[in-house]
Formats: sequence, C-alpha cells, structure tokens
Amino acid sequence: MSSIILEARDIRYRYPRGMEAIQGISFHVRKGEKIALVGPNGAGKSTLLLMFNGMLKPDSGGLLFDNEPIQYDKTSLRILRRRVGFVLQNPDRQIIAPTVFQDVAFGPTNLGFSEEEVNKGVRAALRHVGLEGFERRPPHQLSGGEKKRVAIAGVLAMDPDMLVFDEPTAGLDPSGSEDIMDLLDELNQEGKTVIISTHDIELVYPWADRAILMLEGRILQEDVPEVAFGNPDLIRKARLSMPTLLELYGEISRRGLELPEQKPRTVLEMMNALDIAFRTGDKQKSLGSIVVGDVDLLDSGKLCAWQAAHPHAAIGAMGTRAKERAVHEKLTLDFTYGVIDKCILHALRGQDSLILTTGSMAARVFTRVEEYSKESGNFILVVSL
Ligand code: ADP
Repeated sequence: MSSIILEARDIRYRYPRGMEAIQGISFHVRKGEKIALVGPNGAGKSTLLLMFNGMLKPDSGGLLFDNEPIQYDKTSLRILRRRVGFVLQNPDRQIIAPTVFQDVAFGPTNLGFSEEEVNKGVRAALRHVGLEGFERRPPHQLSGGEKKRVAIAGVLAMDPDMLVFDEPTAGLDPSGSEDIMDLLDELNQEGKTVIISTHDIELVYPWADRAILMLEGRILQEDVPEVAFGNPDLIRKARLSMPTLLELYGEISRRGLELPEQKPRTVLEMMNALDIAFRTGDKQKSLGSIVVGDVDLLDSGKLCAWQAAHPHAAIGAMGTRAKERAVHEKLTLDFTYGVIDKCILHALRGQDSLILTTGSMAARVFTRVEEYSKESGNFILVVSL
C-alpha cells in the first residue's frame, strides 16, 4: 500500500463570528488516491479543503502533509502550495489575469520559476487541459467548462503532487462534467493524488477510490464508495440519495436472487452480477473485440482505413489529447467517459470498438480488459491498432 500524503488529526475550525464549521475530523489520504468528500451544503467540505494547502488554519488539532506538520509561515506555505494545487469552485474567482497565458503563468511566476520554466510549464499545462491556442484569449469570453480548464491549467503549471477541487463539476452540463471527471482520471493516472468535494453522488460513485461522507462538520462514514454510500440511514441523514446501481443491487437481492457479494460500481459490474444471477454467463456468445489506438503513434491513414473497414464499430476517446485528435479527424465519438467499461459492454453484445488514447492509459485498457476476461470467463480480444 502506498504511503500517506495527507493526514488530519482531530482538527477543529470556527469562522470568526460563525459557528464551528469543522468539529473534530481525523482521516488520511494515500499517495495516488482519488478521494471524494461528499455531503450536503454547509457540511464543511469547502472549509476542510481550504485547510489542505494552508489557506485556513485549524484552531486545534493538526494537519500533516507528506508526514510533516503543516507550518503557516510564508516560506513553508509557499512550498506547500507548490505541492498542493487548489482549484476553486468558481473559476471567475480563480482567474485574475487579462489573458489565458498570463493567468496560467501567474502561479509559476509567483513561485520564482525562470521565464523559460514558466513558458514551458504554461504550454504543457494548456496542452494537458486541451486549451492549446487559447493563450491570448481573454478568459471572461470563455465558456464555463473552458474557464474551469484554465483554472486547472493554472494549478498544473506548478506541477503539484496533490490536486484539490472544490465542486469541480458545479455549473457544468452533464457532458462537461464527464469531461472534467475524465481529466481528473487522466491526472490521477499520471500519479497525482486527487481530492474533490461534491454532492453529485452518481458521478463520484464509480470514480472514487474512497468516499468521505460529511455532515455538520464531522465525518459520518469513510470507506470505499459502495460501503460509504450503502447505508440508507446515513445517506438520508446526509440529505443525499443512494447511487442508483446500489439501490438496484439491494432491490434485486431482496427479491431473493443470488448476487455476488461485491456490490457493482458500474453498469458493467451490474451486468456481470445479473449474468451470474441468471446463469447466462456460460452460454456460448460471440463477443466483439476492442482495438486500442495510441494517438501519439497513430497516423491518419491507418485510422481512416480501420474506420472504413469497421463502419459499425463504436469509437471512444480517453484523455484530452485523444479527444482533440478525434475532433481533428472529424470522428464522432460514442464514448468519452467510462470508456473501457462501455467498450466491454459493447463487446459483450458482440460489437467491436476502438479506443483512442495515449501512453500509460493505453496500457490501462489492456490490463482492465484482460482482468475482466479472467474474472468473468468472457474472453474479449484486445489488440493495438
Ligand atoms: P460545504 O462546502 O460543505 O457546503 P462550507 O465549508 O462552505 O460547507 O460551510 C460549512 C459551514 O461554515 C456552514 O455552516 C457555513 O455557513 C459556514 N461558513 C462557511 N464560510 C464561512 C465564512 N466565511 N464565515 C462564516 N461562516 C462560514
């Protein structure tokens, strides 16, 4: 198990002239984890997040980052904020400069990076969030999703180890929200620890490694999402509703069907559970295959030829660069989020699909499909284009 990057020890915080917003909270986060802080408005999520990079200091108890107690002098905070990037809920409050370039450059310039490092960092960050070519644009003219990406690029330009997002999908439409979740997955895949706050339980249920359920400044429950969101009394108490898949799993179990003990986090896992319950898994089926194309290595000719030969195949893209390439090639994408599972579901219906992606995410497709094949006994062919 990887080491602990952030730890809170019985922290409390009261706003001046306000109520006690954090009332004794302890928890830890491991390097590389995806954590969702979930709770109703006023639960204390934002207050807690603001402590992770020292913007607020607990009245009592302590926070440790990378096993060192957080110190609140100027120099220590500077170092901490380079390592813990914070993306505010409202990008209008985070974006301050007149152009996208200047805005993204603000953090690294402030940290004393050289001009060359700043330029390099800004370019890489904008490329990462899919905003290459936006350098001279005034941020106030951008869409909500684009502004969010500028704010994220501003944080990425400092190359932090941990990324903290307060309500990353607030105000975005469903497709914009999925794009942001996919970007968070991509950043996590590259090794960053990601902590988000939200009340969108459906969106984080399949995403998070661990969920922390908060209410009135305290932690109600902290566990893998199927456990953290699986107690109807706690969920009601927190003014949330249970993820549909968990509710469905409970309903089917109550009908007396024998389901696997592991509760489903995705539609794919639900379908596996149903296959087992109805014993349809052992019927001979003809399965589709999954082809993986790394957009950094793939030329247009090969892509076009494959598409011409497989006109009915579905196409999914994982990650910003893959999505950009799809736009460039004028490909219509069937899947842009939860792509691997959707392609496996497609294969189970006997249909082929293509996943466009880059680097380490391509390896993840192979691992995930091979794991699925082994676990389920449904052998889905996965090959590189
Ligand atoms: P959440 O992010 O879960 O919606 P917050 O952390 O914003 O919750 O708020 C927790 C509590 O602290 C609420 O009761 C809220 O009214 C209070 N609070 C938040 N910000 C301030 C502030 N600047 N001054 C006084 N009270 C505040």
